[in-house]
This record gives sequence, C-alpha cells and structure tokens, in this order.
Amino acid sequence: MTGTPSLAELTTLRVGGPVHTFVAAADQATIIETVRGADANSRPLLVLGGGSNILAPDAGFDGIVVQDQRTGVSVQEAGTGQGVRVTVPAGQDWDGFVARAVAEGWQGVEALSGIPGSTGATPMQNVGAYGQEVSEVIAAVRTWDRAERRIRTLSRTDLAFGYRNSVLKESLYAPDSPWFPTPRYVVLQVQFQMVQADVSAPIRYAELAKTLGVAVGERVPAAQVREAVLALRRGKGMVLDADDHDTWSAGSFFTNPILDAARAAALPPQAPRFDAGQGRVKTSAAWLIAQAGFDKGYGLPGAAALSTKHTLALTNRGGARAADLVALARTVRAGVQERFGVELVPEPVVLGGRL
Ligand SMILES: Cc1cc2nc3c(=O)[nH]c(=O)nc-3n(C[C@H](O)[C@H](O)[C@H](O)COP(=O)(O)OP(=O)(O)OC[C@H]3O[C@@H](n4cnc5c(N)ncnc54)[C@H](O)[C@@H]3O)c2cc1C
Repeated sequence: MTGTPSLAELTTLRVGGPVHTFVAAADQATIIETVRGADANSRPLLVLGGGSNILAPDAGFDGIVVQDQRTGVSVQEAGTGQGVRVTVPAGQDWDGFVARAVAEGWQGVEALSGIPGSTGATPMQNVGAYGQEVSEVIAAVRTWDRAERRIRTLSRTDLAFGYRNSVLKESLYAPDSPWFPTPRYVVLQVQFQMVQADVSAPIRYAELAKTLGVAVGERVPAAQVREAVLALRRGKGMVLDADDHDTWSAGSFFTNPILDAARAAALPPQAPRFDAGQGRVKTSAAWLIAQAGFDKGYGLPGAAALSTKHTLALTNRGGARAADLVALARTVRAGVQERFGVELVPEPVVLGGRL
C-alpha cells in the first residue's frame, strides 16, 4: 500500500496519530509471521479489526499495526436438521456476516445487526445488543497464542464468556501483560454453531418486542428483527454514518455497572435494575450519566461531546483530539462517581494507557 494510515483514519472515533508500520494481511500466514516478528523483536503490536472499539492516542503508535483483510463465510454442515456450522475469518465485516446469516436462516445473530467492526473482534468483548450475545452461537475460536507461539483453538468453555468479557479480553488486562495493548490470543477465525430456522430466536428485549408489536419471548421472521434493530440503532446514532457525528464514536463508552445487592439498594428507587445473577444487579450507565447531569450533547471546550441521541456514546464532533475525549470521559465518570458512588468502566480499549 502507499502511505501509512493514521489511527484517526483506522478508527471510528477518528482520533489518533501516526502509525509506524501498517500491515494489511491477506492470509493467515502473513498475520502469524507479523505477530511472531513483532514479538521476537519486542515491537509494540496492535491487532486491528474495524477500529470501532478503540480510543487511540494523539501520539500515535510507534509499532506494528496488523489488520486481517480476509473475508468470506464457509459452511461445514447444513440441512441435516442439526443446524449449521459456519467458519468465518477474523477480517470478515461483522454486519456482512449477520446479513448473510439472516438471508440463509441461520438463527441467533439477527439482533446483533448493525454492530460495526470485524467478526474476529466479536468474541473479544462478547458483543451484545437487544437481548443477544455472540457467545450464544460461538462454538470455537482459532487463535495464534503468543505465549505458547502456536495455533490454538479455544472452545466456548475455554473462552469463559461474560458480560462484555472473555478470556481474550481478560488476557489484555492481565497484570503485567507483556502484550498490552493487544491480547495474548490473536483471533484468526471464528466457528459458529447455529440453528437453521425460518424465524428468529425468541425476542428478549422489551424495546425490540414493542417495536415489532409482539410479546417478549415470541419469534418473528429474522429479517424483521434485523430491520427493526437497524431502525432502533439508527435512531440512537448506533449505525456508522460518515455524515452523522453522533456515530463518530466507539458505541457505548461505558459498560452497564453490575453491583452487589447493597450497592444496588443505595441507588434511587427509580434507577433501572436488571437481575445479573448471583444476587447481583445490573443498572444502566446511560441512566446514571443523565441523572448525574450530563444531558445528550453535553460537551467540554473542544470537539468532544456526548451524542445528541444517546448519553452513553462519546463522540467526535469533527477535529476532536484523543485528549478531548479522555477529558470528557473522566468528567462523566467523576460526575457519576460523585452523585451515585458508582465507578463507570470504559468499554473500548484505551490505547496507550487507562482512563
Ligand atoms: C456506532 C457503534 C455502535 C456499537 N454498538 C455495539 C453494540 O451494540 N454492542 C457491542 O458489543 N459493541 C458495540 N460497538 C463496539 C464495537 O463495534 C465492537 O466491540 C466490535 O466488535 C469491535 O470490532 P472491531 O473489529 O472494530 O475491533 P477493534 O476496535 O479494531 O478492536 C477492539 C479490540 O479487539 C482487539 N482485536 C481486534 N481484532 C482482533 C483479533 N483478530 N484478534 C485479537 N484481538 C483483536 C483489538 O486489539 C482491540 O483490543 C459499537 C461501536 C460503534 C462505533
């Protein structure tokens, strides 16, 4: 390729400085060789998908950025009544895969329509939306294990999926991780095990059920779910659109806090509360932010502001620097901490440090 793209060009928040070396990898061998080479020479390495969950530093990245350019979907089993097993290279655009799944009647990802980025990044934080999580349909993930320097397939059990979490993400934040800011495991391909059906999985999310005019638990044609989800997401600025600054974001900037019973009881009675298992309660980060006084569109001096459509998205209004977004994130987090005593945890990977 000619020229090396900046992190601003490679990420959906559109901030971040120059990259030393950019490798667009057309095959698995190139990815592995690039990772091996970087590790052998102790060079910083960033494994990049669509850049939709990264806050990149203004200083840039003095290392190697590798991006999997492979696309495609290969089907191993179909039409047996046992469902379908589908293998997808990490570089495949996620929403392209969802569109194909809906068209083919492969059930279980229709509510994950419109999420930007690559398929290989989806197990990283167990992407989820509108009542579905990708972990429900992942059978295994083929990785390059940087610790053991070998290809290793991680089963669904190995992956230890949780709310916006997995072993892949945990390895990123492991104490003294020698690989920060990238995980120990480089995802090479994802295997999905999906039910073949002409309807969606049961609708679990009340807002989606209401939009579809059905009760929670009912099923409808998957294409209807996809259309409804895309419409809901567009209304919240959660589908990428170059002309809409509300989508110059990393999606939700904070995860929804999961609190123990005592901490949850201390929230105002009207705070949203959802059962998170083991006596814990999940509340809404968007609600906490709004109630702490940060309305839609709230901004500090500079070009970073909350989305005008959703308090949970930090956005670049054009010309923002990473430092503007970091300042805004810290202000919002401090405001919520002061008002509710709850510490918000960033969902995107903050390159070059922590908030
Ligand atoms: C408008 C918008 C809406 C969003 N909505 C949602 C949503 O509804 N639900 C949700 O869960 N997320 C959402 N996100 C966040 C984001 O899209 C997802 O987390 C997505 O899976 C990130 O994919 P990516 O390819 O862009 O990853 P990147 O941003 O490129 O990378 C994210 C992290 O994963 C690592 N990584 C990427 N590829 C690999 C690989 N092959 N192997 C190992 N590590 C890798 C990177 O090193 C980095 O640490 C949204 C983002 C935006 C901008």
